Amino acid sequence: MAARPYPRVTAVLRLVLGDQLSPRIAALRDLNKARDVVMLAEVADEATYVRHHKKKIAFVFAAMRAFAAKLRADGVTVRYIKLDDPGNTNALKGEVLRAIDELRVDEVVMTEAGEHRLAAETATWESAFGIPVEIREDARFICSHAAFRTWAQGRKQLRMEYFYRQMRVDTGFLMDGNKPAGDRWNFDTENRKPAKGDLFMPRPPRFAPDAETQSVLDLVEARFGDHFGDLTPFWFGVTHDAAEQALQHFLKEALPRFGDYQDAMLVGEPFLYHSIVSMYLNVGLLDARDICARAEREYREDRAPLNAVEGFIRQILGWREYVRGIYWLQGPDYLRRNALGATRDLPWLYWSAETDMACMAAALGQTKTEAYAHHIQRLMITGNFALLAGIDPHQVHEWYLAVYADAYEWVEAPNTIGMSQFADGGLLASKPYAASGAYIDRVSDYCKGCEYDVKLKAGAKACPFNYLYWDFLARNRTTLSSNPRVAPMYKTLDRMSDERREEISRDATMFLQALT
Ligand SMILES: Cc1cc2nc3c(=O)[nH]c(=O)nc-3n(C[C@H](O)[C@H](O)[C@H](O)COP(=O)(O)OP(=O)(O)OC[C@H]3O[C@@H](n4cnc5c(N)ncnc54)[C@H](O)[C@@H]3O)c2cc1C
Ligand code: SF4
Repeated sequence: MAARPYPRVTAVLRLVLGDQLSPRIAALRDLNKARDVVMLAEVADEATYVRHHKKKIAFVFAAMRAFAAKLRADGVTVRYIKLDDPGNTNALKGEVLRAIDELRVDEVVMTEAGEHRLAAETATWESAFGIPVEIREDARFICSHAAFRTWAQGRKQLRMEYFYRQMRVDTGFLMDGNKPAGDRWNFDTENRKPAKGDLFMPRPPRFAPDAETQSVLDLVEARFGDHFGDLTPFWFGVTHDAAEQALQHFLKEALPRFGDYQDAMLVGEPFLYHSIVSMYLNVGLLDARDICARAEREYREDRAPLNAVEGFIRQILGWREYVRGIYWLQGPDYLRRNALGATRDLPWLYWSAETDMACMAAALGQTKTEAYAHHIQRLMITGNFALLAGIDPHQVHEWYLAVYADAYEWVEAPNTIGMSQFADGGLLASKPYAASGAYIDRVSDYCKGCEYDVKLKAGAKACPFNYLYWDFLARNRTTLSSNPRVAPMYKTLDRMSDERREEISRDATMFLQALT
């Protein structure tokens, strides 16, 4: 029988998943260091159910190893299963079973998984294992499941703006008594400025891989070398301290201009004034409440203007909590919604990043190299293109889930299926986020270096977003024309001559036929 490097009688096995690396995670509440074993396991099943970007896999495994080391340093007994450990079953269930078998576990305690697939599986574990499996609610979110259900109950529309206002009132963030700071809930109208190249633009701090991270990089190259994306240079922080440094850098250097340039896009500037904290936040290296409180302090102490701080807090307290609420409220069927009946296969350019469209090449190129694109690139470039081209929303969803370092289904799916592809028929967005080249030209400098001409509406050199936009509206007239926010565009379409409408249809058909 194999030697047991653990206490002879283990009462509780505490399972921590790869995106649950917070010291205060629910599964570690009431941890008894003398009695319990904390388990983390690198398993191929979780890295491959969609073929995640190599940088994301490396980030999660390296952060798990760093977290395990921190727990050990705090005197916790940790069972850490590396991907290439002999006997690794490469499935979470298999690893928990192996631990139960080897450690004489009385009970398993874990925090709820962040997606339907794993939540459904773990719900079967208690009967499968024959011992208690306690699954605790993930208390890292500011809005609990029950609070979101209560907010949603009886509402005809589940608009983020009203949820966000409620969250401001409930938490007190950016509130002056019972009024919003600055007497307004939302400063978005001040947040749509185009950016100019700036030599002093803040860039996220880069962290050199330590020896353990380097061994993860070697492992990922060996095991997942054929996955999408560039593994190196790898500059993500993998510890709480590194994530804290990244947050401090953002608060000091970029937050003051976050609002102004939130929608802007510039060639060669993947990050602009964005925070680049989503990957840290989503695995638990940062905490949402703490980020909001510290951003508010920047405003209260006059280091950042209100339009910037309100815009930033809205993303976390509003959007992030809201999409999670929608994800759990809607259930797994949400992932298959396809209100516009879009069926085109995802074109290869999403993987190759090879295209003459400069805006798409920029967003896809940095997705490949950095596993990052900012919100407007995801929504108004790659998402907008998929929407206009009529790509199957489930394939679009799988792509977004695979390619970003911050991608977890609870946050990715509502953003893709609902906000970006309007595949939920308007549950999340009041109108489709569809735009022609003029919008992209207004908020970016991409068009200047493009093979296509954003001013041209028809012909081989015309910007594809121009004719695809009108073709999208024409194709979806039955579903969209009664939407009051889209109706004015149908009036414009109807005022066009028959020849112009035929031209749009011809250009769009030719372009889409060539899209493979
Ligand atoms: C199609 C699509 C897919 C997306 N997939 C993901 C995903 O898989 N994971 C993810 O974390 N975000 C996703 N987003 C939301 C958003 O694009 C990213 O959170 C953001 O780009 C991360 O970069 P940042 O940290 O620099 O964010 P910033 O722009 O600096 O914003 C600050 C923080 O606010 C939060 N946030 C901002 N917008 C959203 C939003 N719409 N929904 C939820 N949280 C938000 C994030 O935690 C982010 O770190 C997606 C958006 C779209 C349109
Ligand atoms: S011209 Fe059209 S395709 Fe080219 S960068 Fe501008 S919006 Fe994109």
